[in-house]
Amino acid sequence: MSAQPRTTQLNLFGSPLERSRESLFETVRLAIGSVKLKQHLVLITIDIQEFREINMLYGFENGDFVLETVVDRLQGVLRPQDSLFRSGDDEFSILLNPVLHQDHGLLAVHKIHQLFERPIMIAETEHTIDMNIGLSLYPDTAIEGEELVRQSVFASYLAKDSHDECVIYDASLEVGNKQRQLVSQQVKEALYSGHIRLVYQPIFDRNGGIKGVESLSRWVRGANDTVSPADFIPAIEETGLMQRFTQWALNTALRECADFADLFITVNISATNLEDPDFPDLVKRALSTWSVEPSRLILEVTETAVMRDVEIAHHVLDRLSELGVMLAIDDFGSGYSSLKYIRDLPVSYLKIDGSFIENLRSDSEDTVIVDAVCKLGRSFGLKVIGEGVENEEGQQMAIELGCDLLQGYHLSRPIELAQLEQALEE
Ligand code: C2E
Ligand code: CA
Ligand code: CA
Repeated sequence: MSAQPRTTQLNLFGSPLERSRESLFETVRLAIGSVKLKQHLVLITIDIQEFREINMLYGFENGDFVLETVVDRLQGVLRPQDSLFRSGDDEFSILLNPVLHQDHGLLAVHKIHQLFERPIMIAETEHTIDMNIGLSLYPDTAIEGEELVRQSVFASYLAKDSHDECVIYDASLEVGNKQRQLVSQQVKEALYSGHIRLVYQPIFDRNGGIKGVESLSRWVRGANDTVSPADFIPAIEETGLMQRFTQWALNTALRECADFADLFITVNISATNLEDPDFPDLVKRALSTWSVEPSRLILEVTETAVMRDVEIAHHVLDRLSELGVMLAIDDFGSGYSSLKYIRDLPVSYLKIDGSFIENLRSDSEDTVIVDAVCKLGRSFGLKVIGEGVENEEGQQMAIELGCDLLQGYHLSRPIELAQLEQALEE
């Protein structure tokens, strides 16, 4: 027995923060080789939610402190024969080796949740750490080590998507995944065959004049079947098509709108674009190909996209700004609105998230938020766009509170290029 390396805290090597996916694989393989009949192994994957955000908001030192605390607490569920690994940046794995009954895995998860009910102090503020937990079991769900690890990680992803605290792997869960892969494949074909196209939603000034348009993509799958970008953009991200897609969107929007000389054109870009050091060159080429003044192009990015890798995003945004391109923070107020971005990034526009504008009435609490964002924008010299204007009262309130520009179904839905040309002629 002593030939089998089973003591686990050792897997954390000298530093509990050392990442060790390899030693996880190795330990799982060895455990499978030595487990007895009627015994089970349970592999628990724990994904720490918003760890990146903690790093960004409080710095890496506090991030490390959180990791150390997580390790300390997780040790609390381990028996001497179990193992704990840091298997990714914000991912830990626990191998329960062995258990006599499958339910022991769930008991361990229950204990983990209890251990994390107590908040962690970060920079003198209390934080509750939320986690997505996935479970796989030997020999119940997998009989091979790599597959056991894959299933456990996959289950933790599903827990994240479904907002469940814990998901136990089951083959039927793969159906949804296959569905996503199928959609990705179809999107790829649609993109190459011209079935994805752009519509444009006019953006108005306070007097009702059209000042610009937001380009929004649509996948036309059939005569009466148009798929919303909210449903296919994630598939584009997952299949690594985002660069190609944005290149297409950017060139299409600039080509189609180049002649509307008085209008600005906005294009939505994603986190993947912000992580691509070649992206500014791509933008530069597109502007010169379609002879569009850089200042007419507004690139819309969300705070979440910037946060994925702040350093490189900052660099890419600086280079875009040097080209003379304008930047807007999209969905402002819906995520981790950090004043740091407004101060540090070369931003010219804030787009208040539609959820604050949709139900804007003189007596709604949203007025306080819209008012605050408009004041913030003014003091930093930024233009504020209120999007999601759905009715007359919302429009009046948004104007009264100081939005510089307005966008929403009440003013105009996203329209085809031909309709836009017509609207501009009128
Ligand atoms: P977004 O950038 O926040 O775009 C605004 C969304 O709100 C659009 O939905 C628009 O049609 C919708 N909208 C406009 N006015 C109103 C209103 O008064 N009420 C309500 N309830 N909604 C309104 P859409 O076109 O379905 O786009 C959804 C999201 O998909 C966009 O959100 C954007 O994040 C993404 N997206 C769209 N096109 C592209 C693209 O070409 N590239 C990338 N990366 N993302 C895109
Ligand atoms: Ca947008
Ligand atoms: Ca938005």
